[in-house]
Amino acid sequence: MAERLLVVEDSKAIAKLIEQIAKSLGFDVTIAYSLAEVENILQGGKEFFAATIDYALPDAPDGEAIACVLSRGIPGVVMTGRMDDETRQKILAQAVVDYIPKENSQAFLYLKRILHWQLTNRDNGILVVDDSLAARNHVVELLKRRNFTVYSASDGEKALAVLAEHKNIKMVITDMEMPNMDGIALTNEIRKNYSRDQLAVIGISGAANGIHSARFIKNGADDFLRKPFCPEEFYCRITQNIENLNNIAQIQRAANTDYLTDLPNRRAFIQYAQKKIPEYISNKTHYCLAMLDIDFFKKINDTYGHEAGDNVLKVIALYMRRHLSGAMLARLGGEEFAILTTGVDEDQLYTRLDDLRREISVSQIPYEDQQISMTVSFGVIFNSELALAAQMNEADQALYHAKENGRNQISIAGQD
Ligand code: GH3
Ligand code: MG
Ligand code: MG
Ligand code: MG
Repeated sequence: MAERLLVVEDSKAIAKLIEQIAKSLGFDVTIAYSLAEVENILQGGKEFFAATIDYALPDAPDGEAIACVLSRGIPGVVMTGRMDDETRQKILAQAVVDYIPKENSQAFLYLKRILHWQLTNRDNGILVVDDSLAARNHVVELLKRRNFTVYSASDGEKALAVLAEHKNIKMVITDMEMPNMDGIALTNEIRKNYSRDQLAVIGISGAANGIHSARFIKNGADDFLRKPFCPEEFYCRITQNIENLNNIAQIQRAANTDYLTDLPNRRAFIQYAQKKIPEYISNKTHYCLAMLDIDFFKKINDTYGHEAGDNVLKVIALYMRRHLSGAMLARLGGEEFAILTTGVDEDQLYTRLDDLRREISVSQIPYEDQQISMTVSFGVIFNSELALAAQMNEADQALYHAKENGRNQISIAGQD
């Protein structure tokens, strides 16, 4: 269900603009043009995910609407035409998500980013490590305002335990001086198991000289904050580091995914299989590696066009997912797919592949006003202790035999 945004704004033009931005992010929008309307709406008992609050309204010239919205536990972003330091201090003294000076159109682009973060930040876990309860709570509160999923620990040892337990943690914010294990030692321990692509570490210290920041960075931290810090500085550092991580994750995902079928690509398959096969062998798990190739695919392209061919590839990927859930499925390239899967025994594995083969052979894929039918061939190797490249070679040989023998069939390696 769509989240609801409350837009408090007396200018109709600006309210309209904010509404458009919010709708583009999937929000439902309620607009209030005055403080009286805000009070009215809040009595209606509707749930609001967040609010944008204009600082000055006709019946609330001095930010009175801010307290009104925040008192209902609704996270608020303040939009203001005023740039003076006094107003800024006054706004930041309250638990606002952020404040945005309405200087120019940049303000609305920034608002869009803020609202986007509010929606996505819950997927980002952050662990706060500090022995001082007050300091810890302060940071936790700042993060919760921004909708992060927050964990906390009172020293380095406890932090490592929390980290091991929660795979969604993307960032650790740690104090320097702590009993048992201090922030530097913790950073050091973290880097033994988590790369900088996986997890960001931000050090915090109250020490007056700059020595800690250098030590933190040299021990693998990504950034450093000196106490006391203002919320703006804090949020900038956090957001920048989280965005970095998310960008890296996106690039890594793209590098390992086939764009057409959204299946893992050859590189991802090889990486995964190289790790898993030795485990299967040492645990005596029944498994198979199979190559699947569409029969006479060139003819499908020639008859129905390349786009229809692309569509067939997508549908094959869908059938594979449906029949072999839990298996590693990949598009190796062209119309060739690979499967790595475990099962109770060879018979069961064979049956699952053959069920997939049969369903594809009887299916008709609608394309424009025509029906496309097709078959696929498999080459498969069971419980092999060969190296991956050799196994893939054997499966390829078997696939070749399946084609030679008339296609639409499974050929098992070493049985020709
Ligand atoms: P066989 O039964 O022996 O496998 O015959 P085939 O026609 O399937 O095999 P062949 O290797 O001769 O042709 C594969 C064709 O797949 C040729 C190529 O144009 C087409 N192809 C490769 N990648 C794509 C793609 O991404 N989209 C589409 N539509 N076609 C592709
Ligand atoms: Mg301390
Ligand atoms: Mg083919
Ligand atoms: Mg081929």
